[in-house]
Amino acid sequence: VMSKTKSSESVKVVVRCRPLNRKEESNGPAGGIVQMDLRLGQVILRNPRAPPSEPQKTFTFDAVYDANSKQRDLYDESVRPLIDSVLAGFNGTIFAYGQTGTGKTYTMQGAWLDPEKRGVIPNAFDHIFTHISRSQSDKQYLVRASYLEIYREEVRDLLDPNHANARALELRESPDTGVYVRDLTSCVCKSIKEIEEVMNMGNQARAVGATDMNEHSSRSHALFLITVECSQPGPDGRKHIRVGRLNLVDLAGSERQAKTGVQGERLKEAAKINLSLSALGNVISALADGRSGHVPYRDSKLTRLLQDSLGGNAKTVMVATLGPASQHYDETLTTLRYANRAKNIQNQPRVNEDPKDALLREFQKEIARLRAQLNHRKWRSKQKKEQVDGEGWDDDTAGEEEEEVEKEAEEYVKQEEQRLEMEKEAIRGDRFLLAEEKQRLLGEKERMMGDLRKEQEATEHLTAKYKAMESKLLVGGKNIMDHTNEQQKMLELKRQEIAEQTRKEREMQQQMLVQDEETLELRETFTSLQQEVEAKTKKLKKLYAKLQCIKAEIQDVNDEHVRSRQELEQTQNELTRELKFKYLIIENFIPPEEKNKIMNRLTFDPEEDQWKFQPLVPTESKSSQMKKRPASAVGYKRPISQYARVAIAMGPHSRYRVSVNVIRGQKLMGKMLISLKQRFTFTLINILSLNILRPTPVKLSSLSTTKSFVGDGESHFLFQIVHFLSFSSVFLSFVHQ
Ligand code: ADP
Ligand code: MG
Repeated sequence: VMSKTKSSESVKVVVRCRPLNRKEESNGPAGGIVQMDLRLGQVILRNPRAPPSEPQKTFTFDAVYDANSKQRDLYDESVRPLIDSVLAGFNGTIFAYGQTGTGKTYTMQGAWLDPEKRGVIPNAFDHIFTHISRSQSDKQYLVRASYLEIYREEVRDLLDPNHANARALELRESPDTGVYVRDLTSCVCKSIKEIEEVMNMGNQARAVGATDMNEHSSRSHALFLITVECSQPGPDGRKHIRVGRLNLVDLAGSERQAKTGVQGERLKEAAKINLSLSALGNVISALADGRSGHVPYRDSKLTRLLQDSLGGNAKTVMVATLGPASQHYDETLTTLRYANRAKNIQNQPRVNEDPKDALLREFQKEIARLRAQLNHRKWRSKQKKEQVDGEGWDDDTAGEEEEEVEKEAEEYVKQEEQRLEMEKEAIRGDRFLLAEEKQRLLGEKERMMGDLRKEQEATEHLTAKYKAMESKLLVGGKNIMDHTNEQQKMLELKRQEIAEQTRKEREMQQQMLVQDEETLELRETFTSLQQEVEAKTKKLKKLYAKLQCIKAEIQDVNDEHVRSRQELEQTQNELTRELKFKYLIIENFIPPEEKNKIMNRLTFDPEEDQWKFQPLVPTESKSSQMKKRPASAVGYKRPISQYARVAIAMGPHSRYRVSVNVIRGQKLMGKMLISLKQRFTFTLINILSLNILRPTPVKLSSLSTTKSFVGDGESHFLFQIVHFLSFSSVFLSFVHQ
């Protein structure tokens, strides 16, 4: 049952652990560190470094999938209900989170060719188009797909044929649709095959330019977006449109990027790659906490795009993927904590009914308009035909179908052409007409024939457009596939029921577990003091163990905080150093007036959350303020001054030539000096940066002041160059005067 009222539901979190791979198996008999209780939805993690006495860590989720889990199980239990909601007009998001190599891509895409191993995305394609083909015929659907990637905090359109050279796209926000990507390509898909092609196209674009696809995919986020619009007549007799948006997200690897020893561009890249994921973590923490008012969605592209999916108008499923190998214990624990936190996020999903930007509505309007135009055309040519027919033949054509109208229109055009041709012949053969008059009449007939053909072409064009437009809309109950296979339908239904049943059972088990702990003591009555002591001791022990668990947890979290804090401090230090270096260059080598010019052109774009350069010419008065080139003086190739005209009239006079040469000479010298200065500046910057990027890092203090350059021999040489440059610039300004 759908309702428009806001109701809250939490983000569903499921955890999946992949099997040990060959390399891990050969590493030793230790086996995996991840155990799963499928019935209870629990993950039990063993710390390979801890003594056996230490209690294992247990986490509970909406569902867990172990190494033996089938793609199909995960889909039916945890994804199918979400896609059903999308088909009913909700927003839905599935994202895969986890360390690189734990099965995010396997879960989202899987192995396409093996039906057993197809992941969430291909199964969702099947699901959506099968649903459409089985729905009632009064429903009309429009399905669109987009595919984008966030890499180094830049949004790239993977369906843009020009992908490699395309600019990064901008994010925008509208009150109706929330945050969206401006100018993102979206492809209308009419079948499973078409949407698969779109997906493949995007995957190829993703691979192009990536030297190592694994490396690339571990550093970028891939978002496949499907919009399903459905129109259906409501009880009021009008067509109502529901729009479901589905985000299928394969996140970058969650492992901590190694930042130690990385500098310059690489450091910035590492910082940027981490940005979206750490922002995602902060958003999840802020939302899960529930107390903090500010949720830092704006901190990254990813969190802005997923704003609705996290704490907003969407139903969300998070699939956290784990590896079972013991060497990844730390990352696995971090992933489990992350996932555990996400469980507490509350969303407010609602059906998107009749939004203003529904494309389906526009399509319907356009189709209606084209049909009206076509009908009008056909009616017109039919009228003409009847006029023609009225003269000679006399046959009655009333109440024919559209197809016949079309055929008759074609016939009419043919007849008309023949008639004109005959008339032309007659004119040519007419010996009583003057040649001139003949030509005129023939020309007129030609023109009439041309008009006729144009008319015909326009109609054909219109028909083609109409048909193309109409074919994009999918009508329920036909169009895609035959659904005679009732048996298969029944089978699917049964599978869904079983999945539903499993889910309910698990929920009940989890509830019972919680209740047991709470109510056990209430029911206990003791026959003797001794018994009471025993029972209470047992309970004390249990609680003590729990306390130890929680203490260990606190310690872990603290350690993690300290670690990430240290890393952040290190990044900050290195970025500060970089900044100081830049300041050094600006202060010493950029003339203050140039710097001010640049500073004055900088503006902050709040929409993009970025600093931008203002264009040199103000945009609004571009055309009016641009000086017009004066019209050429009569008789000269280009506008010419009075002085030059006089000069030309005077002939090659020596006085003018000399003065021109003197000016030229001065200019040339100025240019030479400038290029000399530039060359020195570049050399200096190069030397400086060499100094910076030397394996042994230079102390910050030595960079902050030029004074400390007067230390070793190399620096002293630099100092001399600086002196020379300031001298030469004084000299230059002298020359300019
Ligand atoms: P990620 O996208 O998280 O980096 P992949 O999806 O590429 O990881 O998975 C890494 C490898 O593990 C792949 O070879 C994949 O086939 C395999 N794999 C992942 N999950 C499973 C699973 N549940 N069952 C079998 N193989 C898996
Ligand atoms: Mg991957």
